Amino acid sequence: MTEIVILGAGYAGLAAAVQLAARTRHDDTVQVTLVNATDRFTERLRLPLTATGQQVADLRLPGLLAGTGARFEPGWVTAIDLAARTVTLDDRKITFDILVYALGSVADTAAVPGADEHAYTLNSFDDAAVLAGRLAGASDVVVGGAGPTGVESAAEIASRFPHLTVTLVGRHEPGAAMHPMARAHLRAALDRLGVRTVRAEIRKVLPDGVHLDGGTLPADLFLWAGGTRVSPLAAAMTTDPRGRIVTDAALRSVSHPFVYAVGDAAAIRQPYGIMHGTCQSGMPTGVHAALSILRELNGKQPRAFRFGYYHTPVSLGRRDGVVQFTHGDDSPRRLYLTGRLAARYKEIVTASPWPTYRRMRRMPASAAFWPRGKRA
Ligand SMILES: Cc1cc2nc3c(=O)[nH]c(=O)nc-3n(C[C@H](O)[C@H](O)[C@H](O)COP(=O)(O)OP(=O)(O)OC[C@H]3O[C@@H](n4cnc5c(N)ncnc54)[C@H](O)[C@@H]3O)c2cc1C
Repeated sequence: MTEIVILGAGYAGLAAAVQLAARTRHDDTVQVTLVNATDRFTERLRLPLTATGQQVADLRLPGLLAGTGARFEPGWVTAIDLAARTVTLDDRKITFDILVYALGSVADTAAVPGADEHAYTLNSFDDAAVLAGRLAGASDVVVGGAGPTGVESAAEIASRFPHLTVTLVGRHEPGAAMHPMARAHLRAALDRLGVRTVRAEIRKVLPDGVHLDGGTLPADLFLWAGGTRVSPLAAAMTTDPRGRIVTDAALRSVSHPFVYAVGDAAAIRQPYGIMHGTCQSGMPTGVHAALSILRELNGKQPRAFRFGYYHTPVSLGRRDGVVQFTHGDDSPRRLYLTGRLAARYKEIVTASPWPTYRRMRRMPASAAFWPRGKRA
């Protein structure tokens, strides 16, 4: 019996689990086990909605895996012993022959003094729900980090709670990586929603404010969306300076080739550089790891993973948005969408993973079926 254990049921880990389960359903010599902190599938792309009190679907992992032969094992991973090939979950151990490491990332609250103590994050459904409970009683909200997550969060908060003062603080202008016209639309939408933007370095988070280079902003609620970090568990393998597991071309750990690393937790090199964590790239890494494992079980060499980005969709409340289409290396093309069409596009993208997983249970993705992206 070959035991394949997948750690983490985010976008990447779940893609690997469903793909493996679908393809080994009738194989008595392979057992697939998916481990996750909770039995809920967290749609991280919808966490700004949860954070502003909007209902989202309650998606459960055991139901998705039912009938596939794969096991779901709830628990918090506390240790990985690569020599013994065991994983410790809370107070019990499970063994593996092949591991898929997909523990994702969380907001890096260690990046700014005071953020650990005073910042809210969108790491999990529960974190977002806690924020929702606090927003109604707040008055000055500061969102730290002007990347897509910060922009979406600030826009969602401002459109749901128009009485709040919402300030978005970032090192760069919001939409900095977009085509100038797309960026101008994003900027105008934030203005219309009343989101004030400040370009500054955040030096310290205080209980009632945020200390910037040029002064202090009042804040009775601070949301940190200014960068991510990965679990220290990855340090059992060779990691890059950001703590992500360094992989070979087939997504295997360079130090421990019986471990595949996918999604945000992996440092995956492409011709244009190391990939950055997104849902759009995370799902294909999970599918590729599954296909590679199956090739290895059949005595074949796994193939190299190749990925090119194709878009950056950003919602600006429920009725507006910007979709920046990109070159494979994530640089902006001239093509972009704005307004309601962009909001609709973003919603289709956000809603697509769960039906894709459900479809994959019956019709596993093949290399040809799954979009591998364009060459950079
Ligand atoms: C608010 C927000 C909005 C975003 N919007 C977009 C977007 O619009 N487009 C886009 O492409 N990307 C977006 N992202 C980024 C995207 O969500 C991530 O790149 C993606 O979730 C990474 O997938 P993953 O499977 O690698 O990890 P994750 O989705 O982080 O999943 C990791 C899983 O592992 C579990 N886990 C972690 N540690 C443990 C442990 N020790 N024990 C047990 N379980 C554990 C977690 O509970 C989680 O289920 C957004 C992120 C956030 C936070």
